[in-house]
Amino acid sequence: MRTAAELREGYLSYFESKQHLRHPSGSVVPPPDDTTTLFTVAGMQPLRNFFTGADTPPAPRLVTAQKVMRAGGKHNDLDDVGRAPRYCSFFEMLGNFSFGDYFKDGAIDLAWEFVLEHLGFPEEKVWSTVFAGDPELGLELDQTAVEAWLRVGIPRDRIVALPRSENFWQAAETGPCGPNTEMFLDRGEAYGCGRPTCAPGCECDRYLEFWNLVFMEFELAEDGTLSELPKQNVDTGLGLERTASLLQDVDSNFDIDNVRGLIAWAEERSGTPYGGDAETIRVHRVIADHARAAVFLIADGVLPSNEGRGYVLRRVIRRAVQYGHRIGLQSPFLPELSDVVREQMGQWYPELEANRAMVDEFLRGEEERFAETLERGLKLFEEVAAGKSISGEDAFKLHDTYGFPWELTRELALERGLAIDEETFTRLMTEQRERSRQTSAFDSSARLAGAPRTEFVGYERTEVLTAIVAYDDLGDGNFQVKLEQSPFYPEGGGQVSDGGYLEHLENGTRAELVRTIRLSGDQELVFHGTGFAEGDRVRAVVPWSVRFPTTANHTATHLLHKALRDVLGEHVRQAGSAVRPDKLRFDFTHPQALDMEQRGEIERRVNEKIFANLPVHTFETPIDEARNLGAMMLFGEKYGDVVRVVEIGDGWSRELCGGTHVRSTAEIGAFTILSESSVGAGARRIEALTSGEAFALLHERSRELDELRAEVERLRREGKKPVETAGPDLVDERRSRAGDVEVIVVQARDASADELLALSDRLMQQHAPAAVVLGGSENGRAHLVVNLDRSLEARGLDAVEVVREAAAVIGGGGGGRPTMARAGGREPEKLAEALAVAERAVVDALAA
Ligand code: ATP
Ligand code: MG
Repeated sequence: MRTAAELREGYLSYFESKQHLRHPSGSVVPPPDDTTTLFTVAGMQPLRNFFTGADTPPAPRLVTAQKVMRAGGKHNDLDDVGRAPRYCSFFEMLGNFSFGDYFKDGAIDLAWEFVLEHLGFPEEKVWSTVFAGDPELGLELDQTAVEAWLRVGIPRDRIVALPRSENFWQAAETGPCGPNTEMFLDRGEAYGCGRPTCAPGCECDRYLEFWNLVFMEFELAEDGTLSELPKQNVDTGLGLERTASLLQDVDSNFDIDNVRGLIAWAEERSGTPYGGDAETIRVHRVIADHARAAVFLIADGVLPSNEGRGYVLRRVIRRAVQYGHRIGLQSPFLPELSDVVREQMGQWYPELEANRAMVDEFLRGEEERFAETLERGLKLFEEVAAGKSISGEDAFKLHDTYGFPWELTRELALERGLAIDEETFTRLMTEQRERSRQTSAFDSSARLAGAPRTEFVGYERTEVLTAIVAYDDLGDGNFQVKLEQSPFYPEGGGQVSDGGYLEHLENGTRAELVRTIRLSGDQELVFHGTGFAEGDRVRAVVPWSVRFPTTANHTATHLLHKALRDVLGEHVRQAGSAVRPDKLRFDFTHPQALDMEQRGEIERRVNEKIFANLPVHTFETPIDEARNLGAMMLFGEKYGDVVRVVEIGDGWSRELCGGTHVRSTAEIGAFTILSESSVGAGARRIEALTSGEAFALLHERSRELDELRAEVERLRREGKKPVETAGPDLVDERRSRAGDVEVIVVQARDASADELLALSDRLMQQHAPAAVVLGGSENGRAHLVVNLDRSLEARGLDAVEVVREAAAVIGGGGGGRPTMARAGGREPEKLAEALAVAERAVVDALAA
C-alpha cells in the first residue's frame, strides 16, 4: 500500500473484511437541517442521524471515505495551509464506525492490526494519547483505553494522557460526547523542535497525529451533567493525506502522489520549480490545495458568492489565482488545473466528471473577472504606492471603486515596506456601510415622519375605502401621502409596484399613482393630481387588469424556479427576478445555455403544475421553522425572525416571499418561455409569459409555422429544395477519409463557441467514427473546437494537443480532454490557417 488511491481502497476493503458495510461519501455541503458547520468537517457528520438514533443505519458497522473541508466557521484550517505541512483545507477522511456494536477494545484492536499489518508502520514508533479525565465532568483517566493499548503492545511511556481540550469530543454544548484516543507516528528527531518536553501534542512536526478514535458514550445535559448513552458508538477519522505522507515518507500532505501531481503541473506550466525558498514552496502548496478545494466544492453545488460557503469558495479561488500569478501562471489556468484534479481523483469521485462543464465554467468566470480586477487594481496600486505611504483614502478607493482586495493592498504595502493608513480606511468603510443602510429610506418625506404606519391590505384586496393620514405637497403637481390602509404593493422581492389611483369620496377627483416608497413594514405613496388634503376620505384602487397578470407572473416565477432545479439540478439558485404585469424575468446560476430539450421540459413541467390547479397558500412562521420545511431562500438576503412562506401544492414548492400570488395555479392559464440568454459568467436569464400574453405568443408562433409550411409546400411544388437554416453560416467545409475515420473540417461565420460545440456534437453523431475540427469567429474573437471519436485516443491522437497547436496560429490557447478540446484566440483572420494546421495534425497522426 503506497499511493493515496491504494490507501483509500486498502482501508475500505480491510474494514469490509471485518464485517463493515462500505458506505458512500456524503456531500461536502452538509444537509440543510445540519447548521452546525459550514462544510462537512468529519466522516461522522453525514452519519449523524445514525448516531442520535433518528435514523437506522444500514448496518451496525460502516466504513467510508468522506470528503471534508475545514475552512470558515470554527473548524478553520485555511490559514494554516502551506504554512504547516499537515493542514489541507479540503481533504479526505477515512473512517470506520460502530453503532452500538464494538466499543473501545474492538476499535483499538482493529486500528492496531491495520496500522501494523497493512500500513506497515514500525511498532516502536507508534504513540497514542488518551483522555486524562476532568473534574468538572466528574470523569477520570480513560483506563479502558490505556489497558487496551497496553494489551496490544504499546508500552506505558508511549501512551500520553491529555486533558479535555485535546481528547474529549463533543459535537455541541450539549448532546452525545465522549473521550477519544489518537494515534501518532514519531517521524524522528529531524522533524522535531528538540525541546525535552517534545511529545505527541507538541506543535512541531515530529509526532504526526493521523488517526482519531472517538468513543461516544455519554450525553451531556444543559446543567453540565453526564449520563450514559443507551448505545455506545465508535466514530473514527484517519486523515488520508497525512497517512499517505507517512507511507510515502514525504514531508507534507502536499508531497503525496495525488497532490504532487497538481504541483507538477503548475511547475511545468509556470516554469517555477517547487523547491528552493520556503515562500515558493508555500505558494505552490496553496495553489494545489485551493484548486482541489474549489473543484470539489463546485462539483457539490457550491457557487462563488459574497456569503457563507460561496464566499469561502470565492476566497480560495482568488487566492489560488493571485498566487498563481506570483509564480508566473497565466489566467485562466484553473480550468486546466481542474483537469489534473479530475485525472488524480475523478476515478473515485465520479461527480467531478459528471459536473465537469459546470466546474470549469465557474472557475473560468470567477478567475477571468478576478484577473481583470487584479490587473486594473495593480496599475492603480503602482500609482498610489509611488510615495512613502498609502493613504486610507487611496486604499478605500482601490477597494470601493476597483474591487481590489484590501488584504492584497495590505500585503503589497508590507512587501515594499510602505506604511498604510488603516484607521482612515476602516473609518471610510464604516461610513460607506452607514450610507448604504440609509439610502433605502432616502425618498421618505420628512413631513410625513411621525405619521402612523400604513396597513398594507393588498394581499386580500385590490380596493379599499380609507383616509389620508398625512399629506405633503411636492410642488410639481405631485403629492406624497400616507394612507390608513393601502392595497398598493410597493416594489420589493422582484415584484414591481402596483399601478392604480386614488378617488376622492366627496368630489370624485382622481389622482394617479406615480411611485410607491417601501419603508420597513410601512409605505409612502406619490400621486399626480390636485384637490386632496390630510384627513380626506378616499377610495384606493389597484385595477384588476394590472394586479392579476402581475400575480400570475409571480406564482409562475416560483413554478419556474422549482422546475429549473428539478430539471437542471440543485446548483440552480435565483440570482434575480423581475415580476411585471406583461412578463416575468428570472435570473439563475447555471453555467451553460439550455438546450431545446431542457427548455421544453421546463415549460412542460410548469404547465403541468398549472393544469393540475394546485392550491397556493401563504403563512407566516419563524425563520428556523421555514428552514426546516426546506423553504427556498435567497442567498445574501436578510430575513426577519418571522417570515412569510408561499407554498404551492402540498409542499411541492415553498419559498420565502412577500409578493402577491394567485389562489390556485390554474389561474395562471398557460406559461411559455420567450427567451433564454446569458447574463455574465455562470448566470442565465429566462423571460417568460403567462396567461393572455402566453396565448398571444403561442398563437403568433403557430401562425408563422403555418406560413412556413405553405412556403415549403410551394417550393416543393416548384421543385426547389428548402434552405437549410439550422446552425451557423458556413464559409468552408472539407471532408476526407483516413481509413474508416471521416475527417470533417468546417469554418463558420458569426459562430459562438457554444454554437460550434453544438455543431460538432451533431457532426460526431451523424458521422461516427469521425474527427471533427471546427472554427468560427464572433465579435473579433476566434474559436476552435476539436472533437475526436473515442477510438482515436488509443491511436495516439490527443484533441488537446491538436487544439493547442492550432490555437497558437490565432494567438490564443486552449484545453480540454483527449477526445474533446476547445480554444480561443484574438486573430480570427487566421482561422483558415489554424484549421489547416489542425487538419494536418489529425491526418498525419491517423496515417502514422
Ligand atoms: P489537528 O489537531 O492536527 O488539527 P484534529 O484534532 O483537528 O487534528 P480530527 O478532527 O480528529 O483532527 O480529524 C481526524 C483526522 O483527520 C486527524 O487525525 C488527521 O489525520 C486528519 N486531519 C485533521 N485536520 C486535517 C487537515 N486540516 N488536513 C489534513 N488532514 C487533517
Ligand atoms: Mg484541527
